[in-house]
Amino acid sequence: MSAKSFEVRGGNLFVEGVSCVELVEKFGSPLYVYSIKALKDNINSYRKAFSKANFGVRFLYAVKANNNLTILKLIARENFGADVFSDGELYMALLAGFDRNYILFNGNSKSDEEIRMGIEAGVPFSVDSLDELKTISRIADELGREVRIAFRINPDISPDTHPKIATGLKTSKFGIPWEEVIDAYKLAVNSPGVKVAGIHCHIGSQITDVSPFVEAVKRMFEVAREIEKLGVELEFLDMGGGLGIDYEGKGAPTPSDFAEKIVPAYENGLSTIKSEPELWLEPGRSIIGNTAVLLTRVNSVKRAYKNFVAVDAGFNLLIRPAMYDAYHKVAVANKMDKREEEVYTIVGPICESGDVLARDRRLPKVEKGDIIAVFDVGAYGFSMSSQYNGRRRCAEVLVDGERAYTIRERERYSDLIANQLIPTDLF
Ligand SMILES: *Cc1c(COP(=O)(O)O)cnc(C)c1O
Repeated sequence: MSAKSFEVRGGNLFVEGVSCVELVEKFGSPLYVYSIKALKDNINSYRKAFSKANFGVRFLYAVKANNNLTILKLIARENFGADVFSDGELYMALLAGFDRNYILFNGNSKSDEEIRMGIEAGVPFSVDSLDELKTISRIADELGREVRIAFRINPDISPDTHPKIATGLKTSKFGIPWEEVIDAYKLAVNSPGVKVAGIHCHIGSQITDVSPFVEAVKRMFEVAREIEKLGVELEFLDMGGGLGIDYEGKGAPTPSDFAEKIVPAYENGLSTIKSEPELWLEPGRSIIGNTAVLLTRVNSVKRAYKNFVAVDAGFNLLIRPAMYDAYHKVAVANKMDKREEEVYTIVGPICESGDVLARDRRLPKVEKGDIIAVFDVGAYGFSMSSQYNGRRRCAEVLVDGERAYTIRERERYSDLIANQLIPTDLF
């Protein structure tokens, strides 16, 4: 009953009831492998963490973390809403069956076409600028629609995370500057086609300290008190996502640690306003991050400046180490019971020096043909992949107990030239 999502049996790494060696034999390498159990556990722990709140709570999964359609459908079926950041993510969220009342259309640079698509779909918007407000108002009015909106506000909070994923700083490109928030709401209240429904913020990602979130809750209620004076009845306060996960084994707050601090802060806030907005949260990484491993086969081992292990997956499939200096645990999936005796640097096949998946890791003796497992790659893994260097994207597999389902096939060579046209005049 208490089977783990990832565990070692007979020296091999297993995802639920299936060994990684078997998975690679059957589906090829490289391979993204997801555990359905891990996903359900994460969803349940969010739900449980907030079950005691005496106000409404709604979870909107951040689609950009992982937009595989099967995964989206699994999450939609748990009554989650979705946070989408583009027309394409809106398209996928609608296809997956998320309730459109709870698909929040985010984004700091929406085109008029995207705005029209969102309005026609009837989803609420997080508005990032006054230009966007005017466009929404104009198109909604034209279409005879009323659009529920929140402003994305910039609360000017600096969480301790990588600068590339801190989004609530004064200097950030996201959100309405703190000093201008109330004026923006005044304008919105008087705009046709627009109904002010909420307030939105998102302070960053991979945040492992809960206190900046508590600070953000307080700021949101400061805004709530002011805009209620404009006669607004608030339907939701959306605190965004950003809860970090434990990549390095150094610990990270769980949804329940998070709820323990956020719920009282929110209750406090509610006692200072008239309306009873739901709390909306937009977790991405903390829902899907720890549910997957990337399996990648060793092509060669070379003693050079370092002990290099060259594998068949690189930053084309997992860009986080190259882009954010991110740390992912690694293991030799077929040698889990062997003593760790050497230090290795795991590099990919891409023609760039920055193509390093993991630096200076102590592992059992690695040989050609071994399978390296890279952990916690469910979020911002496949969704940030590319075909750089003419590399086809790999398959994705979902494991449920003893069963493994292909949820995305490996790309074909023809996918590398999809949509290209060759002007016949030139040849
Ligand atoms: C990226 C993003 C999220 C999700 O962030 P995580 O760190 O993956 O939880 C939520 N909301 C918005 C607006 C985002 O841009």
